[in-house]
Amino acid sequence: MNDTAIVGRLAPSPTGHLHLGHARSFLLAWWHARSRGGRVVLRIEDLDVERARPEFVEATIADLRWLGIDWDGEPLVQSSGESAIADAAANLLARGLAYPCTCTRREIQSAASAPHAGESGPRYPGTCRGRWTSIEAAESATGRAPALRFVVREGPVEIVDELQGTRTYDVARDVGDFPIYRRARSPAYQLAVVVDDARQGVTEIVRGDDLLESAARQALLQDALGLPRPRWWHVPLVTDATGRRLAKRSDDVSLASLRAAGTDARIVVGWVGRRSGIADARPGHAEEFVSRFSMENLPREAVAVGLRDWAELGLR
Ligand code: GLU
Repeated sequence: MNDTAIVGRLAPSPTGHLHLGHARSFLLAWWHARSRGGRVVLRIEDLDVERARPEFVEATIADLRWLGIDWDGEPLVQSSGESAIADAAANLLARGLAYPCTCTRREIQSAASAPHAGESGPRYPGTCRGRWTSIEAAESATGRAPALRFVVREGPVEIVDELQGTRTYDVARDVGDFPIYRRARSPAYQLAVVVDDARQGVTEIVRGDDLLESAARQALLQDALGLPRPRWWHVPLVTDATGRRLAKRSDDVSLASLRAAGTDARIVVGWVGRRSGIADARPGHAEEFVSRFSMENLPREAVAVGLRDWAELGLR
């Protein structure tokens, strides 16, 4: 079977070393597309200038290759294609669907009546909506380089996730008008991911379920920009034995350190396969599992890594 209409993607951020959770998400994305004859594209999401580093780009590519994952065409380095993202922002601005915002983080914190814990921070109350006629006007009045925010429509936003079913989010109530540019030349993740998925012709997205809520914001942008919504599979994360998700920032075991400890990639790949619905998976190359993988068999709960797993993987 060869279905070139299916385009999956790998979208790592080079902000640290990949760990077992990334290995699993990327293998799932790759198996899912390849098992149905699809293409796979790679995108390096390096727009976070404070955290992205060139050595992590190299390490990420080396880790993916070590796992036996490949991709079609050259990787898209997100920072090299900023103009498409800027065009999308200009389009939204021109249509009154985005506006400059000069609020500081502190102002937003103190204006928020009920800060929501979590990655999105407090809801943005819309202070700058309708306040400035242009980016220049905002900048010259305040001396601050403005951010750009997207005008979020009122009401529920429905998204369909192929694993989790239909989900409804109230982005206006919970998040408010969210940033699409943090300042000039610094696009925010939500806009960048939407523009670049469309640019790369991505039809399906397999990624960790920590981004499920973000999909509602991305759907709003896709609708506003006239871009097709991809199909989403938000997969459960890998956690440690206490249920805490693995993170790049902590000292969670990286693929680079597994490799340095002499672990054979086939052991990691086989372990991922077994924890992803291929019950009898033994150590093997990623390619060997393509025909045996089916998203339908994927366990619906998080994968906890315990001592026995670490021993199997050759550590501790
Ligand atoms: N680059 C993001 C990350 O590594 C993933 C973005 C996405 O899959 O949409 O966390």
